[in-house]
Amino acid sequence: MKAKAAIVNEFNQKLEVKEVKIGKPGLGEILVKMEACGVCHTDLHASHGDWPIQPKLPLIPGHEGVGIVTEVGDGVTSIKIGDRVGIPWLFQACGECEFCLAGKETLCMDQLNGGYSIDGAFSEYCIAAADYVARIPEGVDSVEIAPILCAGVTTYKALKVSGAQPGDWVAIYGIGGLGHVALQYAKAMGFKVVAVDIHDDKLTLAKELGADLTVNGQKTDPVEKIKNEVGGVQASISVAVTKVAFEQAYHSVKRGGSVVLVGLPNDDIPIPIFDTVLNGVSVKGSIVGTRKDMQEALQFAADGKVKAIVSTAKLEDINEVLADMEQGKINGRVVLAF
Ligand code: NAD
Ligand code: ZN
Ligand code: ZN
Repeated sequence: MKAKAAIVNEFNQKLEVKEVKIGKPGLGEILVKMEACGVCHTDLHASHGDWPIQPKLPLIPGHEGVGIVTEVGDGVTSIKIGDRVGIPWLFQACGECEFCLAGKETLCMDQLNGGYSIDGAFSEYCIAAADYVARIPEGVDSVEIAPILCAGVTTYKALKVSGAQPGDWVAIYGIGGLGHVALQYAKAMGFKVVAVDIHDDKLTLAKELGADLTVNGQKTDPVEKIKNEVGGVQASISVAVTKVAFEQAYHSVKRGGSVVLVGLPNDDIPIPIFDTVLNGVSVKGSIVGTRKDMQEALQFAADGKVKAIVSTAKLEDINEVLADMEQGKINGRVVLAF
């Protein structure tokens, strides 16, 4: 069959929207008619090829896809035609390695990533692996739930691995697509939240979403403000795409605290050995979430505790959406509606 899709043919070029051929779902696969797909900053990285590991080319990006199953391949028993599913970054893992066996499938060396190493959901139809798609809870809107499939699960997981406990202060650096849901998960998990961004409109949104303290990192030194006003945070989550935010996130934590790296600028930051040792600071990386994390993250949204702020666009608008994202103009998440 044919479907309209947005394609990265070459890095740093506009995506091409055209009809592509979609095959039949194979063993263990399903065909999904897309209803919505969020646009993640990772899609922008993919179109630039700016990470140490580059995506396949040509590429159909998109890993916040929500749609209805229209066909199932051989061997699929857990999903049926008509089910509503989500197409995530963790498109498929091997199921057999030490990480998969331990329920840490996001670390699988043989994983496929939706819209990066395999074609994703910026397409009217998409093939997916039945064992790895998310089950979308009933009663939620496809457009509103789409960002939970990456922004939601990723930040929920990052907060979990931060080790912060209810009542603790956490700082979220970068109140974009990930950050504005991170902040809501943090509040729902009982944390006090400092929101840091460099755009005032994002901080206004952060306040509306319940941030206890907001800092414009371009006008005020967030480290100084956080140390002075709350004595440092138990955990900092950096979902910004700028090196300086990671340095500030590191220096914002108090003794015994943790810094969770989530955003993916292609940069390094110096970690001071002496301070890290003496202050007992942990630095952790966190990559999306497992299928179990996904279920939990979706349930927060289904329960109304977390709600992505979305605006919709058409598949044909993808180049404008990516340009706006690059300039930091998007408040919340843009979701392509099919
Ligand atoms: P986004 O563009 O929607 O948001 C980035 C935000 O960072 C913007 O609000 C921007 O204003 C803010 N920002 C920029 N400079 C800042 C600074 N100095 N201090 C504070 N804030 C600053 O992007 P997104 O979709 O939220 O993605 C963020 C990053 O997370 C990307 O690099 C993406 O690839 C990565 N990501 C990682 C994972 C993971 O599993 N680790 C998953 C999804 C996305
Ligand atoms: Zn993403
Ligand atoms: Zn594996």
